[in-house]
Amino acid sequence: MDRFSKDGKMIIPLRERKKGTTASDEQDVRYVVTDAYCPNGCSIIDNDNIIHGSAGLRFKFKREGMEGEFILSAIEGDFEKIVLSGELADGVKDELYCPYCGVIFAKLVNCSCQPDADMVVFGLTEKLDFNNAIAFCNVTGCTNGTFIKSEDVIRHMRLGGY
Ligand SMILES: [Zn+2]
Ligand SMILES: [Zn+2]
Repeated sequence: MDRFSKDGKMIIPLRERKKGTTASDEQDVRYVVTDAYCPNGCSIIDNDNIIHGSAGLRFKFKREGMEGEFILSAIEGDFEKIVLSGELADGVKDELYCPYCGVIFAKLVNCSCQPDADMVVFGLTEKLDFNNAIAFCNVTGCTNGTFIKSEDVIRHMRLGGY
């Protein structure tokens, strides 16, 4: 079985599959990000920090009076994080930066969870392409938008009335 899709995401089958569902193949798999980059092209895949069997994604975070680094799970729909330094606070937004070159990650749209929340974007290709990127909310504890291609986020937000 080919476990890699065309755009560099590893595909793993979902463990649970309900009997009698008519779900398409697309809904039966989860994507795992195997290539991810900061806007300047640094790889943010961290092979030293594994979450649920996959190398995590490394981010630097900053907010008033706090900064540090965390690892985000590379598995779609899995919001597990390893905090390497500093502290994350539930319901609090952080600005996200590349841990290697320090560039700030771009924001695509506002997240609906709270007025100041943003969807932060990172690319699956070395040169940032918004059609081949992933967006996730920068508020700790919010599970919106993670591991969906940016174009899908925009469509979803519009359908939701935002
Ligand atoms: Zn960088
Ligand atoms: Zn949010």
